[in-house]
This record gives sequence, structure tokens and C-alpha cells, in this order.
Amino acid sequence: MSASSLVAESVWRSIESTRSVTDEQLSILHFLFGKNFERATRIVDQRGVKRISGEPSERSIFQVVGESRRKEEYFCFAEHYCACYSFFYDIVNKGEQLCCKHQLAARLAAALGACIEVKVSDEQLAQLLVKI
Ligand SMILES: [Zn+2]
Repeated sequence: MSASSLVAESVWRSIESTRSVTDEQLSILHFLFGKNFERATRIVDQRGVKRISGEPSERSIFQVVGESRRKEEYFCFAEHYCACYSFFYDIVNKGEQLCCKHQLAARLAAALGACIEVKVSDEQLAQLLVKI
């Protein structure tokens, strides 16, 4: 894990424990993620993050709206996967960024308790995962 991932991880953990973001944490996240973090906060402000949890396993996946006018939604795991183009192109291919704005939005919304919670059966969740 890179130093910046470790820093990000500790900031996320403290946001999770307090359910709020200090100015200092905001500036660290902004420093680490730049424009992507600004975009992520806009998505969270619009309540654009759903957490879909399977019952009874409690496994979950995020569904995050994009910023384009078409309002497509992307399935994503906060830590290691997003179905968007930027994830594939900038992160997997070029290795330039730590994560895309949808993953950041998912992480931020989860840490703040700002997700829209959707409960489905484990079977329905499995069907969603197959489509990714
Ligand atoms: Zn993405």
C-alpha cells in the first residue's frame, strides 16, 4: 500500500468514527484526490450514493450516480472496483489515481452515514453482481 493510501485510510477511519468531517480532513482529502474529491462531495450532497445490502449476509455494493446529464449510475466497491470508464482508464490502465470519484463518493457517504440504504435479498444482490 502506498503512503498516500495509508494517509487516506486513516482519514476515512476518523471520519467514520466521528461521522463528521473537519476542515483539516477536508484539506487532506482534497490534497490527495484533487478534483475527484470535489466531484465526490457534490455527488454526496445530491444524495447520489445508494448502498445496496443483501439480506441476511449483509454483503453490500454501492450504486453511485454519475455527473453527466444522463445520470447514469455505476456499481462500485469503495475500495477496489468501479464500473465506470475512468476507473478502467485512469486507474487500472495508467495507474495515475488512487480511485475514481464514485469510489470516493461511496467512501465519503458511508463514513458520514449519508447513503440511501437499500435492502435486497442475497439472491437479488447476486443477480446485480452478475451484471457487472
Ligand atoms: Zn467510478
